Amino acid sequence: MSPWFAKAIILASSIVMVAIRAPHGQRSRGVKVIGSRRGTLEIALLTLAWLAFFLPLIWVATSVFAFADYPLRPVPFFAGILCLAVGLWLFARSHADLGTNWSITLEVREKHQLITQGTYRHVRHPMYLALLLYSLGQALVLPNWIAGPSYGVSMALLFAFRLGPEERMMLDEFGKDYEAYMGRTKRLVPGLW
Ligand code: SAH
Repeated sequence: MSPWFAKAIILASSIVMVAIRAPHGQRSRGVKVIGSRRGTLEIALLTLAWLAFFLPLIWVATSVFAFADYPLRPVPFFAGILCLAVGLWLFARSHADLGTNWSITLEVREKHQLITQGTYRHVRHPMYLALLLYSLGQALVLPNWIAGPSYGVSMALLFAFRLGPEERMMLDEFGKDYEAYMGRTKRLVPGLW
């Protein structure tokens, strides 16, 4: 298959991702932050995630990563589109459910509410699940050993170091309510983990 199919999908999915996030980012900027746990490691991992988000777009626009290209095959390509579509759908839904309680980093906002419904009913981190699905989709669609898995590696690293501190922050903020919520939900995969 021509790599131009992959380029079109990567470009379109990146635009959709930014379009989903932009209005939420703008809305939550208007809500005061009353507590933050953003440490040096978190800042480093967020910076890495931003860089990794752009690598696929650099692959689309230039040939700097051409040395690591491999042929595009239909099965991973279409499986990847499915992961991207489900990931983007879940990303939009979880953003809508979280509303102005969302932050790009570990923060508590004024009048922060604990969300336990919608996509948050069965797992505590549906947005991270969405981003992991999206990353898997990119890795499958994009036939390049560097630009393909780059976002997934950065997301896996970010979440590996963030899940514990985020849940501790939520426990400190919401106490027994979050403890009960933890008792009836899984972290990332419904019914499993
Ligand atoms: N980890 C969640 C949210 C990601 S956004 C997910 O993957 O869906 C990160 C911010 O969301 C955190 O700083 C925290 O303030 C907030 N947050 C996380 N879980 C929440 C919940 N159940 N209700 C309200 N806010 C939450």
